[in-house]
Amino acid sequence: MGLFDDMKGLGHEQVAFCSDPAAGLRAIIAIHDTTLGPSLGGVRMWSYPSDADALADVLRLSRGMSYKAAVAGLNLGGGKAVILSDGKTEKTEALFRAFGRFVESLGGRYITAEDVGTSVQDMEWVSAETNHVTGLSKVRGGGGDPSPITAYGVYKGIKACAKERLGSKDLEGVRVAIQGLGKVGYYLARHLVEEKAVVVACDIDRDKARRAGTDLRIEVAPPDEIFDVDCDVFAPCALGGALSEETIPRLRCKIVAGGANNQLKTETDGLALERRGILYAPDFVINAGGLINVYCEIDGYNQERALRMADQICPNLLKIFDIARRETIPTYRAAEILAERRIESVRGLRRVV
Ligand code: NAD
Repeated sequence: MGLFDDMKGLGHEQVAFCSDPAAGLRAIIAIHDTTLGPSLGGVRMWSYPSDADALADVLRLSRGMSYKAAVAGLNLGGGKAVILSDGKTEKTEALFRAFGRFVESLGGRYITAEDVGTSVQDMEWVSAETNHVTGLSKVRGGGGDPSPITAYGVYKGIKACAKERLGSKDLEGVRVAIQGLGKVGYYLARHLVEEKAVVVACDIDRDKARRAGTDLRIEVAPPDEIFDVDCDVFAPCALGGALSEETIPRLRCKIVAGGANNQLKTETDGLALERRGILYAPDFVINAGGLINVYCEIDGYNQERALRMADQICPNLLKIFDIARRETIPTYRAAEILAERRIESVRGLRRVV
């Protein structure tokens, strides 16, 4: 299949290939859909095995951003960018300023932000060339690290799941197993402990696990045993692909609800959870707090507003569970349908106008 077939198949509007050899920049910017507003999504810096892998990644990720923004009720479309370089060794001001000039050339159809391999510092270099950038530090008027808002949204999402499956939003005594005690996992654990939930957690980084165990007084489990923990909620907060045909049969929980992106290794794994009677909170719905945080930078950052918008994750999930029940479909599909319906209804309105 050619590039235009891929774009048509996934519904992309525009793909920009950006090259500035003097600055060492090779990047791809993918704009999926701008029906709801300008496309927004982070720029990932990664050493891809091939250009085709980079293209496949940016097409998949930008489409995911359209869905995430649509369900969160934001007036944003989906976009994403990848810089084909090693984020650990090849960062320079010249490279990020060159990237910023390409973002500027799109005239606001794409707004960038930090992502895997990029940081607040990098976004400040980008901001020397364009205003279409979010994820700036608080001193520069930005929202700073989005992880606390992401974790807050996941915590609210777990309450929605508890209401749906356990009959009450109250998390006192509810057992939650968290995989990954990085930024999101740590803040999530803190919210849960404050509400007297019983937290068991792990991290492959022993220092992080030890620190969380001591600071929050939670039980720390070996990373390879976290899937076997007897609990009410399993919260993936590490890397993508945690839920697979190897791990799902091991789960001993009633709910899967966590902050990680791309939790399902394949769509079939969403069906497998459903068949096991486990309620799944679709990842792009429950972890939308980070996107909400950068969205709130566009008109001048206000943390209180970002928190109130993240509160909506709870009713959004309840709506998705209701659609899944009424239409007898898995929850991940119900979330996609909710996003597609919002985009389609606005697109239809535009056609009429
Ligand atoms: P992070 O790098 O701070 O934390 C990830 C943690 O997971 C690390 O401490 C790492 O050691 C641990 N880990 C990796 N593999 C593991 C394994 N197999 N078992 C146990 N621990 C493991 O990243 P983060 O910002 O906390 O993000 C966590 C997840 O949430 C990622 O999937 C990210 O894409 C997603 N996410 C984050 C945000 C945000 O605002 N930070 C927003 C949306 C989604």
